[in-house]
Amino acid sequence: MGKPTGFIEYARQAAAERPTAERLGDWREFHLPADLAGLRRQAARCMDCGTPFCHTGHLLAGMASGCPIHNLIPEWNDLVYRGLWREALQRLLRTNNFPEFTGRVCPAPCEGSCVLGIIDPPVAIKQIECEIIEKGFAEQWVRPEPPSMRTGKRVAVVGSGPAGLACAAQLNRAGHLVTVFERADRPGGLLQYGIPNMKLDKQVVQRRIECMEREGIQFVCGTEVGRDYPASRLREEHDAVVLCLGATKPRDLPVEGRSLGGIHFAVDFLTANTRRLLGSGEDARFIDAAARDVVVIGGGDTGTDCVGTSLRHGCRSLAQLEILPRPPDQRPPDNPWPQWPKVHRVDYGQEEAAAKFGADPRRYCVMTKRFLGDSQGRVAGLHIVRVEWRRNDQGGWAHCEIPGTEETLPAQLVLLALGFLGPEDRLLQELSVLRDERSNAKAPAGKYTTNVARVFAAGDARRGQSLVVWAIHEGRGAARECDRFLMGSTMLP
Ligand SMILES: Cc1cc2nc3c(=O)[nH]c(=O)nc-3n(C[C@H](O)[C@H](O)[C@H](O)COP(=O)(O)OP(=O)(O)OC[C@H]3O[C@@H](n4cnc5c(N)ncnc54)[C@H](O)[C@@H]3O)c2cc1C
Ligand code: SF4
Repeated sequence: MGKPTGFIEYARQAAAERPTAERLGDWREFHLPADLAGLRRQAARCMDCGTPFCHTGHLLAGMASGCPIHNLIPEWNDLVYRGLWREALQRLLRTNNFPEFTGRVCPAPCEGSCVLGIIDPPVAIKQIECEIIEKGFAEQWVRPEPPSMRTGKRVAVVGSGPAGLACAAQLNRAGHLVTVFERADRPGGLLQYGIPNMKLDKQVVQRRIECMEREGIQFVCGTEVGRDYPASRLREEHDAVVLCLGATKPRDLPVEGRSLGGIHFAVDFLTANTRRLLGSGEDARFIDAAARDVVVIGGGDTGTDCVGTSLRHGCRSLAQLEILPRPPDQRPPDNPWPQWPKVHRVDYGQEEAAAKFGADPRRYCVMTKRFLGDSQGRVAGLHIVRVEWRRNDQGGWAHCEIPGTEETLPAQLVLLALGFLGPEDRLLQELSVLRDERSNAKAPAGKYTTNVARVFAAGDARRGQSLVVWAIHEGRGAARECDRFLMGSTMLP
């Protein structure tokens, strides 16, 4: 523990961000690099509490409490405080292949369970993580590290999101020859075409892919396994296959008027935007929010990304609708520490919308009843109604409409950010992989084996729509079990 009185002396300093007016004019990241001297004071706030819930990573009340990949947080906090950045980096890389991703986009369940958080704002763990890895790249401590020997075993990883990348990195480290298949034109999954550039710069993704290529991992992009490359061939040509396909089936809103033009799934909107930004070929799929009244349906991360993107396009107005009630400002009694705090948060998109239009764009307890069209068959508005939530006879929650609260919102662009329903069918069917009751690839947690010999599954395709940090956890776990299967034992963590 670097400084026993650090948590008494220093207040938490939030990560610095660019002013909203400035950042709305471009696609550059909104967070700024931290001042390293100040960050050492932030690391000094770690109490070395003895039972660091921050790195336990268990599910409590259905949500992650602590870091799912068990980052050794108190250890690297101490090393950062003492200025031992390289040692801190070594400690960080023992548990996390990609701190540059989690340090930017993770919601930081570690901070929700930080012991200091009981009496004071928690340690700024995520920011410290990000700066350790960025210093590692800046100092060229992060370098390609190809394995010293090869086993001769060939493994195919299908899907290049964080689960596929973590799995490939670990299997390659164990000496296997790894090929990652990706149907998009660039690797990264939702890190590339999902999370927008202002939250995670695509050069940060590219930097890691290049490092992995130099370590010997082969990326085959623009190839959908099951369509462009037969699944049977995949099994013939590889000793093992790990499916990291993501949960890419979006949830729809099948109400009257859904077939009108101008109503899109959020990921289609975000993907097309990043494709244009990266100059990835023609952009006929680009969806423009400029000068439009935009309604985003869904109050989660994806919805926030649609808000930030629409603002940068120059939308005329913006509303973000959420059917659930507004969360409380403080933890309620049934959501105690160290559970993930289910409290009201203002994310970057809402902050930017408030700066531009004068108010947070979110409206809670609102349900869309139908879409209204114009004479050209395009969406012109939404008919909405307010709802209230009541306990039903079974003790669960149910919503009912509040009479007399119907209204119409103008909208020439509607973005559906309602979550995802699991992995797509084609490849799983072709391989005869069984599904669980939520339609995810059926593979036991910790084992990652499917019913098909030599085929493993990990990430959102196995656990359902989740977080980058869970995808990394799953990719690492699947690599460990795949290595054990190939070699009879494993040294992978
Ligand atoms: C818009 C958006 C924003 C998000 N923001 C955050 C955030 O801020 N923080 C956070 O922690 N999480 C966030 N998430 C969730 C997070 O991105 C996912 O949980 C994570 O990316 C899942 O990783 P994965 O590797 O399992 O799948 P994915 O990232 O979905 O990658 C799966 C890949 O498999 C490819 N694929 C599928 N089928 C085939 C096939 N047959 N052949 C070849 N390739 C195939 C797909 O093209 C895709 O690239 C966000 C999600 C979305 C949609
Ligand atoms: S990966 Fe996420 S949960 Fe783990 S230490 Fe980093 S910010 Fe916290």
